[in-house]
Amino acid sequence: MPIDYRDHYVSTRGSEQNITASQAIIAGLAKDGGLYVPSFIRDCHFDIKNMLPQSYSQVAQTVFNAFLDDFSPEQIAQCVHDAYQTGLFEDNTYPVRVQKAKDRYFLELYHGPTCAFKDMALTILPHFMTNAVNIQNIGREIVILTATSGDTGKAALSGFCDVPGIDIIVYYPKDGVSLVQEKQMLTQPGQNTCVVGVRGNFDDTQNGVKAIFSDQALNAEINAKGFQLSSANSINIGRLLPQVVYYFYSYCELVRQGAIACGDPVNFVVPTGNFGDILAGYYAALTGLPVNRFVCASNANRVLTDFFETGEYDRKRPFYKTMSPSMDILISSNLERLLYDVSKDPETVAQWMGTLQSDGSYTVPDAIKAQTQKAFWGGFADEDQTSAAIADMFKSHGYLIDPHTAVASCVYDQYQKATGDETPTIVLSTASPYKFATNVYKSIYGDIPEHLDDFGVLSALSDATSTAIPKPLAGLADRPNRHNHVCDVDEMSGSLQDFLSRLK
Ligand SMILES: *Cc1c(COP(=O)(O)O)cnc(C)c1O
Repeated sequence: MPIDYRDHYVSTRGSEQNITASQAIIAGLAKDGGLYVPSFIRDCHFDIKNMLPQSYSQVAQTVFNAFLDDFSPEQIAQCVHDAYQTGLFEDNTYPVRVQKAKDRYFLELYHGPTCAFKDMALTILPHFMTNAVNIQNIGREIVILTATSGDTGKAALSGFCDVPGIDIIVYYPKDGVSLVQEKQMLTQPGQNTCVVGVRGNFDDTQNGVKAIFSDQALNAEINAKGFQLSSANSINIGRLLPQVVYYFYSYCELVRQGAIACGDPVNFVVPTGNFGDILAGYYAALTGLPVNRFVCASNANRVLTDFFETGEYDRKRPFYKTMSPSMDILISSNLERLLYDVSKDPETVAQWMGTLQSDGSYTVPDAIKAQTQKAFWGGFADEDQTSAAIADMFKSHGYLIDPHTAVASCVYDQYQKATGDETPTIVLSTASPYKFATNVYKSIYGDIPEHLDDFGVLSALSDATSTAIPKPLAGLADRPNRHNHVCDVDEMSGSLQDFLSRLK
């Protein structure tokens, strides 16, 4: 008998149940501050054999049909087509690629419009959102509110640009993103887009956005004006589901390449910040993907490495700005979804999150720790190790990787040493090396020629490595800025209200 999947998203903190996918996508965050999770996930099973002959879009449809409970198959097919098959990606059939270098497989997820893996989800989320608004008959304009550590912002702006009925405001830490990332955002076209630099780091920025979401009075005022807030951060379940797809797809690709037999386990190494990408992999494993271990790779902000080792999550520590800024995060929001899955206890999850908020840390019991350790191995790479990994991968193996991917590759080396595990391994490659050209160039060649700015380095890197600058980044330096707003954390809601008054 087919399982009735309807009405089954729940909040990790227990106060909301029987939420449909479209409701969860529009709301973003649950009212109790928790995250929506599919309570039916352990009843969901995908048969890999059926996926082997499928295109990326077909695999995507299979996954979405199971999770988007109140979307019709026709709506889902249209969303998938609009995101992945209309020329946004370098290749309409293979939006992602698997490349072998050294002894590992790199899953390149950066061939989309903004050159970071976030495109995989943010090209389709606007289509999910538009359908969700129709399904729920929302009579208001949706305003997407997003905090970004660099890549989400541009990918979201690009995805939502001029989408009817939806507006988007992006907050980024003013001095916490790369120049290329900043320029990508500041040059964003669209009548419905707004970009604001915040004086603070990413955690401050993300907390500012969470505060706006939970400010009931402000939300009532905004609703009265005909708007409704929503989120494009990875706390939105509509962001996570598209990321489940490429775990299945890359596995099938290894089978097709003859690297593994169907059913063999693999490892995934994931450069991690907010824990969204790696959690999507965990969801794939829960729904039938044979995974031996997830390796959770952090940079110097090693809060997750420590958590998997000790069971204590402690954000009271120095915050480091690194060359992998999209992972400069001390509060990994999606870990809450993992804790919900392993504990099955929303009350306790709510307690841990409350303690994190009030005291800056919480500790899970040994039984929970043991369960997380079975599925995850945590490690980190500092700045020197990251540089060395970039240099080695290019000089010894002819393969160019960005700093986030280098963190992952380096942590995988550590994992191999520590465990001796020889399971075939896929490293998620999350950004084009050209997005972080200055640090990539420095890591391989030493100093940057003096006359070059960050944008000149793109050409220098291209010349030196005989690789091409991705189209979306070529000519970026010459595009005019369209946004120039900067504010303090406590002025973020004011910036939002200014934007809304410009819209009406
Ligand atoms: C966002 C991002 C990450 C981290 O992904 P999470 O889902 O936040 O863990 C890693 N690498 C790059 C390039 C990113 O943009």
